[in-house]
Amino acid sequence: MKSLIYEHHPLTDMTTFGVPAHARFLVALKQTDDIPYILGDVRFAHMPIMILGGGSNILFTKDFEGCIIKNEISYLDILSETDDHVIVSVGAGYDWHDFVMYATERGWGGVENLALIPGTVGAAPVQNIGAYGIEVAETIVSIDVYNRVTGNYEELLASDCAFGYRTSIFKTTARDTYIITGVVFRLSKNAQPRTTYAALVQYLDEQNISHPSLIDIRDAVIAIRRSKLPDPRVLGNAGSFFKNPYITQDAYHALLAVYPDMPSFEADADHVKVPAAFLIDRAGWKGRRIGAVGVHDKQALVIVHYGGGTGQDIVDLAHAIQADVFEKYGIHIEPEVNVW
Ligand SMILES: Cc1cc2nc3c(=O)[nH]c(=O)nc-3n(C[C@H](O)[C@H](O)[C@H](O)COP(=O)(O)OP(=O)(O)OC[C@H]3O[C@@H](n4cnc5c(N)ncnc54)[C@H](O)[C@@H]3O)c2cc1C
Repeated sequence: MKSLIYEHHPLTDMTTFGVPAHARFLVALKQTDDIPYILGDVRFAHMPIMILGGGSNILFTKDFEGCIIKNEISYLDILSETDDHVIVSVGAGYDWHDFVMYATERGWGGVENLALIPGTVGAAPVQNIGAYGIEVAETIVSIDVYNRVTGNYEELLASDCAFGYRTSIFKTTARDTYIITGVVFRLSKNAQPRTTYAALVQYLDEQNISHPSLIDIRDAVIAIRRSKLPDPRVLGNAGSFFKNPYITQDAYHALLAVYPDMPSFEADADHVKVPAAFLIDRAGWKGRRIGAVGVHDKQALVIVHYGGGTGQDIVDLAHAIQADVFEKYGIHIEPEVNVW
């Protein structure tokens, strides 16, 4: 077995929030074949098990009295290639942004709008990461998993994964069933740049780029993200703390009467999605600090940890924001971050 097992391991540097916590056991998973041996280890037999990637979407509020398997399986293999596209298989522990850089440098399109999202390739399908008008599910062919219930290695097709807005079976119905070991992507060699997102259009206009390449898009996304989002290496955070809520058309029109500038997007006949950032900002939370934690001054969706705080401080702040938003707008906003 190549994987390494640690006891009483600190988790502070293993999540981007950087709050203190310990794991009873931590396994650095180096290869897929080790999984049955790890899960069969008598020391972990009656303990909760959780999978950790880069820790950029997880908040620990207490010590984890179980075994954390940190996915460090890293490979990148081209499975097939035509003039039109490439099928590439990537290890779950491969750094997501490194994969985006690798793909865009080779002219493979599909993930360029998802540049600079922290974390691992294996976690990308879990919440179907999305940004700047794209979701990762659009490029996924299949997912290699270890099924903890049957003890088998399996391949799930993208159509098996119930991908939706920041969700999939890995977050819902099959939450504790699968360990994702790798993801197979189909990337285009003739990709048309996706520039529907207003901030991206504006940035490209400002740079006088009228026919952007994949690399122009990637670099624009990187520049916009750097200008808006705090770098977790400098200021603890997990990106957007809340999801954008869907509300009924009727509720939206009632709110419009009070807040005529309330934005909305992705409407269907019955529902619209409203930006949680707008609700939180208008409720007066943007830039507000309570002790060691606060709401980022440039992006109201991002809760930040200034240092010296705990996971519970962050949860308390999140609850206060949720209660205030509900009181002011009658809308319940749900966390995007996985709280343990
Ligand atoms: C500054 C910043 C910006 C961000 N911007 C975005 C954004 O634009 N769009 C977006 O969608 N997200 C964004 N995020 C959130 C986060 O980066 C993504 O959700 C990312 O995919 C998490 O990857 P991770 O490896 O860090 O996962 P972790 O935080 O380690 O884990 C996340 C969840 O996935 C599960 N998991 C992880 N790996 C596996 C595996 N191999 N098998 C099974 N389950 C697994 C974990 O148990 C956990 O429930 C941002 C975060 C930060 C800090």
